[in-house]
Amino acid sequence: MNFHEYQAKQLFADYGIAVPKGIVARTPDEAVAAAKQIPGDLWVVKAQIHAGGRGKAGGVKLAKSHDEVHAIAKTLLGTKMATYQTAGVELPIDSVLVCEGTDIDKELYLSVLVDRDSRAITFIASAEGGMDIEQVAQEKPEAIHTLNVDFVEGLQAYQCRDLGFAMGLNAKQTNQLSVIMTGLYKLFNEKDLALVELNPLAILTDGNLAVLDGKINSDDNASFRHKDLVEMRDVRQEDPTEVKASQYDLNYVTMDGNIGCMVNGAGLAMATMDVISLNGGSPANFLDVGGGANKEKVTEAFKLILSSDKVKAIFVNIFGGIVRCDMIAEGIIAAVKEVGVKVPVIVRLEGTNVEEGKAMLRDSGLAITPADDINDGAKKAVAAASAA
Ligand code: ADP
Ligand code: MG
Repeated sequence: MNFHEYQAKQLFADYGIAVPKGIVARTPDEAVAAAKQIPGDLWVVKAQIHAGGRGKAGGVKLAKSHDEVHAIAKTLLGTKMATYQTAGVELPIDSVLVCEGTDIDKELYLSVLVDRDSRAITFIASAEGGMDIEQVAQEKPEAIHTLNVDFVEGLQAYQCRDLGFAMGLNAKQTNQLSVIMTGLYKLFNEKDLALVELNPLAILTDGNLAVLDGKINSDDNASFRHKDLVEMRDVRQEDPTEVKASQYDLNYVTMDGNIGCMVNGAGLAMATMDVISLNGGSPANFLDVGGGANKEKVTEAFKLILSSDKVKAIFVNIFGGIVRCDMIAEGIIAAVKEVGVKVPVIVRLEGTNVEEGKAMLRDSGLAITPADDINDGAKKAVAAASAA
C-alpha cells in the first residue's frame, strides 16, 4: 500500500524525525488558512498523489504570498496529474500539502528497503540528489552507498556516521542524519514497511538537514496488524479493478493485453502468462484466486475480468489441489449467468473433482471451450482473441 507525502511526513514526525512544517488542504481557502499557520514568507504547494516526479509535472510550486497559495491550490485541486512514474495513468489531486518554503543548498537521497540479496533491511544513500536514483546508479554507481543492517544487532551508531561521512556531511549534519536513520529504521520495522524514500533529503543554506519529500510503501501482508495504516489508504489513487479485487482478497494486477486469465496459485498464474506470451498473445491481467477460493470469490473474479472491454477471450487455468474443480465450475457458471459473456471462454481444469467440474460446464449450456492442458488452452485463447 502507498501513502501520500503528508501521511509519510506524519509518520516520520511520530518517530522523532524533524519535518518542515506542513498542513494538508482540500480547498484553496483551506490552503490559505494553512499558509497563515506557517510562519515565513515563502510556501510550497504540493499536489498529493501516489507518485513522485510531481516537480517536473508542475505539481510542486513556490508561493510568495497568500494570494499565490490560493491561486496555485485552485489550479491543482480537482485536476488530474500524470508524471513519469504513473505509466500514463492520471491520478486525481484531491488535496495539496502547504509547506514551509526552504532555501536548499544541496539535495541528497536516502532510502530504506528490504534487500533480498543480502536478506537485510538496507539503507541506500547518495549525495547526488535532484536526479533520479536509477540514473545515478547507471551513470555514477560509485556515488551510491549501501548499508546492510544486521537483523539481530540492529542499526549501529557507527554505521550512521560512516554513511554521513561517505556522503561528505559535516559532524553536525551527520548527527542529524543519525537521528533520521534511527527513526526510519524503527518506523520501518514497527510498521512492516517495504520502502521508505527521502528524495530529496536536503542540506539547507543554514547547514541543517531537512526532509523535503517522503514516500512510503508498506507490506500488504502485514496490513492485518496495522489498522492505523489501513485507515490512511486512499483508494482514489489506486486502479479501480485492483481495489475491487482486494475487497475479495484476490491477487489481481491489471496488464495491457487482451486475454483475461483466471488461475489458482501465483506460480501457475505466472506460468500461464508466460505460455500465453510464448504463443504470441498477451494477458489482460494477472489473477490468482488463491488456494482457498470459494464460489463467491470465483464469481467475483470472473466478473472483474469481464468488466474490462479490452478482454477478447478468457483463459481459466485451474489445478484443483485444495480448491475443487466442481466449485470452480459452479463459480464460472454463476458469473457467466449473472454478467452475460460475450467473449470466448477456454477452460482447463485438472485435479480434485475434475470430472464433476467438466460435466457441470458441459451441461450448463454455456459456450465454453475445454482445453487438455496449459499449452492447448493458451493456444486456443490466443487464437480466439486474435479472431475477435
Ligand atoms: P517530486 O519528487 O514528486 O517531484 P518533491 O517533493 O521531491 O516532489 O519536490 C520536487 C522539488 O521541489 C524538490 O526536489 C525540491 O527541489 C523542491 N521542494 C520540495 N519541497 C520543498 C520545500 N519545502 N521548500 C523548497 N523547495 C522544495
Ligand atoms: Mg521527490
